[in-house]
Amino acid sequence: MASLQPVRGTHDLLPDEGRKHRHIADTARGLAARYGYEEVATPIFEFTEVFKRTLGDTSDVVTKEMYTFEDRSGDLITLRPEGTAGIARAVISGGLGQNLPLKFFYYGPMFRHERPQKGRLRQFHQIGVELLGVAAPLGDIEVIALGAHILDSLGILGRCKLELNTLGDVESRVAYRDVLVKYLSGHVDSLSEDSRERLNRNPLRVLDSKDEGDKRIVADAPAFGDYLTEAARDFFARVTDGLDALGIRYELNPRLVRGLDYYCHTAFEFTTDALGAQGTVLAGGRYDGLIETMGGPATAGVGWAAGVERLAMLAEGTQAPVRPIAVIPIGGAAEAAALKLTFDLRQAGFSIDLGFSGNLSRRMKRANKLDAVCAIILGEDEIAKGVATIRDMASGEQTTVPLGEIAAHLARHR
Ligand code: ATP
Ligand code: MG
Repeated sequence: MASLQPVRGTHDLLPDEGRKHRHIADTARGLAARYGYEEVATPIFEFTEVFKRTLGDTSDVVTKEMYTFEDRSGDLITLRPEGTAGIARAVISGGLGQNLPLKFFYYGPMFRHERPQKGRLRQFHQIGVELLGVAAPLGDIEVIALGAHILDSLGILGRCKLELNTLGDVESRVAYRDVLVKYLSGHVDSLSEDSRERLNRNPLRVLDSKDEGDKRIVADAPAFGDYLTEAARDFFARVTDGLDALGIRYELNPRLVRGLDYYCHTAFEFTTDALGAQGTVLAGGRYDGLIETMGGPATAGVGWAAGVERLAMLAEGTQAPVRPIAVIPIGGAAEAAALKLTFDLRQAGFSIDLGFSGNLSRRMKRANKLDAVCAIILGEDEIAKGVATIRDMASGEQTTVPLGEIAAHLARHR
């Protein structure tokens, strides 16, 4: 039945994959905390306006990818396609701008109506960080260093390269925009339809086009670097100096843009060639104009987001499943004793799997499958004597222990 299929581009996180995702999120969360970034969670839906205003009317996300619907009150609502807009909204609506700098980490599902393929889903997950209220290059350096540190801890930094660019300050962008528009206008007939549209509304975005024809035209476009103001050049030099000092390697990529008006200065992406076309693993930049665009006070900001599904395809590690202790009753009287023992041991902090049914061999099989540390076997004879048999699953060694001493025995052998 079609309706029992998951919706195209969505995916169940069953235990194995769930543990892998948690490994990634926990690693990132732990390192973020070490850098002083605390976890926040904003709602997975916001008023559509929140994304429209922040992502810009011309971005692919807004024009093609948003999950937008009218709710029962007639409000226009969008499932969040990314995390930054919601956090910026929360900073404004919560009046958090009084307590700068703010350092946030987040993890959660995002939604984009894209053509699903490997590494590209309609519901996917991101980890991300935002640093608000720090206008100095030190902020850019810190968030990039944190991103590199997380990728390194996941064992995938070696397969990624850091691409880096600067979008300068407003003055630089105004100057560059003019020459870029002039250049692109000379090739307007060869541009893709999307890029012709971008040329009018947000020409920098053309640099980011994935269309092969556009790419050829863009290759010969004037370089942004030639139009940077002194101040913008200096800002970027301080960012690269900082990365050099930390031994973080990067490649300058003058075509790397985040084409929205409030993006400025540093733009960066950690990319890999191990995932085919979906090569961007972690992407971010500085967005000093964002909160003001939304109607809040002018607030500097820099951050990044990384796709957890893409990280999961690259990362080797996972969270180990908890190894339980199996409690195995044999016979009716033993069941009652086993139930009580199980709940007592759980209260005492042990992870216990109580076999629900089956004979001894079937339950031992299950204990093996769960990779149990040991099995506590309760037969009629044992119950009568007030003891249990504890069997070490690795060695097969068996010990008889009085029921009242099991917790202490397990604690000694933990
Ligand atoms: P792409 O160029 O791959 O479409 P993007 O520029 O749209 O990426 P961002 O908005 O910068 O991506 O999101 C940051 C990261 O989130 C990406 O680098 C990627 O790892 C992940 N991501 C984005 N869209 C998806 C998706 N549809 N499915 C899975 N992961 C995604
Ligand atoms: Mg995209």
